[in-house]
Amino acid sequence: MADYDVIVLGGGPGGYLAAERLGHAKKKVLLVEEQYLGGTCLNVGCIPTKSLLNSAKLYLHARHSQMFGVTADNVAFDWAKVQSWKDEVVKTLVGGVAMAEKKVGVEVANAHGTLVGTGKVAVNGEVKTADHVIVATGSVPVMPPIPGAKDNPVVVDSTGLLALESFPAKLVVIGGGVIGVEFASLFAAFGAEVEVIELLPEIVPFADADLASRLRKGIEGVAFHLGCKVSAIDGNTVVYTDAKGAEVRTPADVILMAVGRRPLLDGWGAKEAGLEFTPRGIVVDDTMRTNLPNVWAVGDVTGRSLLAHAAYRMAEIAVAHILDPEKASHAGQRLRTETIPWAVYSIPEAAGVGLTEAQAKAQGLDVVTATVPLVLSGRFVAENGLKAPGAVKVIAEKTSRVVRGIHAVGPYSPETIWGAAAVLESEYTIDDLRQVVFPHPTVSEGIREAVWAVKD
Ligand code: FAD
Repeated sequence: MADYDVIVLGGGPGGYLAAERLGHAKKKVLLVEEQYLGGTCLNVGCIPTKSLLNSAKLYLHARHSQMFGVTADNVAFDWAKVQSWKDEVVKTLVGGVAMAEKKVGVEVANAHGTLVGTGKVAVNGEVKTADHVIVATGSVPVMPPIPGAKDNPVVVDSTGLLALESFPAKLVVIGGGVIGVEFASLFAAFGAEVEVIELLPEIVPFADADLASRLRKGIEGVAFHLGCKVSAIDGNTVVYTDAKGAEVRTPADVILMAVGRRPLLDGWGAKEAGLEFTPRGIVVDDTMRTNLPNVWAVGDVTGRSLLAHAAYRMAEIAVAHILDPEKASHAGQRLRTETIPWAVYSIPEAAGVGLTEAQAKAQGLDVVTATVPLVLSGRFVAENGLKAPGAVKVIAEKTSRVVRGIHAVGPYSPETIWGAAAVLESEYTIDDLRQVVFPHPTVSEGIREAVWAVKD
């Protein structure tokens, strides 16, 4: 008999949720985490960034409060206190994960785990056996081989930036994806001079280009340089070629390398155990099964989506199939990446789900679209005025009128986008969605307005 029903390798969102659900189902579970429970998301990702961004948003609110008839004098921020609030939030939530695992009887090993074969994991060198193994080792930041970047104390990754002890006067961000944009917005809100250098013609590549452009223009205090290639880092100076081919040099106190993350595929036996993988991640089917029997993979390490809520979903799917494969198959428990929403918690925020207009066209779909400004929402105007950025875009197939994408820039969009994901999951048509009642006044009414703006 095996030592455990399931061994979970990695204690981030994918791993800790899987372990907790299995423990809840009375399975004997060992969760192996070498660094910190909660993984990237709770310790150096989603949660600390959102804590810092919340402080930045409060600071901006206070500074702009006169517009709303509220006077706040001497508005200031204390970076050390902003940081200690972030640390407190992280500590609370990581403690919450530890408690949740304990409550359902999950054994947690603070150790390095290595997959040594089907059903076998070496935990700090001692081989433990299990009927199933779930791999959830996550991802790590990509450090491109830019001359002058390696071992340069001015250059940090997202983890380094989160730990900054003193507030920088100038930040240069290399990469205009979600992480780069959130940090740029955060530091600009607190008054730093911020530049973002992005290789592609637009930021946040998975957002509809129309809305990504509105998001970029809506982020105050950040100079975005698009279509620019960084060639070197010379001490504290980023050297790049701009869109016209000219060389530009821009100095900074801190340089954030935010060009993406890659699945963590080395150091834990993937190759040696015979797991199938590509540089994009461990190969899994839609039920999270790998090529090895009873070895499952979830989260960033699969490369299917590098988002915490996608890791949660993958964990739920793997657990459902481990517990009762027949029931899970019958219930349609499988990964559908096309309906995973994304969100950017910058100022303003943005979120979306499904195809962009360009993606739909590239797939040969004949589409109808409608974009409306959020000033059509009474709550948006009451809380932001008429000049604030905000819009919703709906993309639907022309003949069937099935909704294929909903993208939004504006407040609360990350909170409301799950509804749009449900619309796509259910394959609602424009006409189905027109029958949904949106509470008034809410910013989510922008979705309703966009849906009614689609031409019949
Ligand atoms: P991880 O969270 O990376 O966890 C993997 C864990 O496995 C780690 O704790 C690691 O120590 C452990 N591990 C690895 N190898 C071993 C081994 N051999 N033995 C033992 N333990 C091991 N996503 C969102 O959805 N929303 C956001 O707002 C968001 N913001 C982000 C902001 C930043 C700055 C960053 C960097 C990421 C952000 N993400 C966000 C992405 C999110 O953090 C990841 O998608 C999520 O953490 C993936 O979860 P995971 O379980 O796959 O892996």
